[in-house]
Amino acid sequence: MKLRLAGIVPESIVDGPGIRLAIFFQGCPHRCPGCHNPETHDPAGGMEVEAAELLRRIREARGIDGVTFSGGEPFEQAAALAGLAEEIRRLGLDLVLYSGYTFEALLQKGEKEPHVRRLLEAGRLLVDGPYMEAERDLTLPYRGSRNQRLIDLPRSLAAGAAVEWEA
Ligand code: SF4
Repeated sequence: MKLRLAGIVPESIVDGPGIRLAIFFQGCPHRCPGCHNPETHDPAGGMEVEAAELLRRIREARGIDGVTFSGGEPFEQAAALAGLAEEIRRLGLDLVLYSGYTFEALLQKGEKEPHVRRLLEAGRLLVDGPYMEAERDLTLPYRGSRNQRLIDLPRSLAAGAAVEWEA
């Protein structure tokens, strides 16, 4: 299955807890004013990669605590990403997901799109919501604006409501 990528950071310390292999997916419909990655917006931009090739890179990575899916908007490619996310979990790595959609919007989307629900179920942490310039705060860990939350996915999915993550 093919995925569209904007880029990979092999060892990131800003895209979730610990040292993470961060994958930035191409294509984003949100168009947040002040977005720091406008080059990721065009769904036809970036480069195409086979999911199997990406999994090989993840398997070969050494010294990482987990993997992060960021963007762009990873949930625009949920059909291709759900299986990869499940493989990452089978490797014993945890998964952090970024989305411009809120947790509540994704929960609703997941009712009609099973792969969206599968992707949420494979994640440990979701950084949710659009970047908002008026809420910009560079002191926050792993996010750029105060409206964005760190959501504990297993606990939130079990509760059916957003539960914020406690480090
Ligand atoms: S969701 Fe992220 S990548 Fe998309 S426009 Fe907003 S800040 Fe940029």
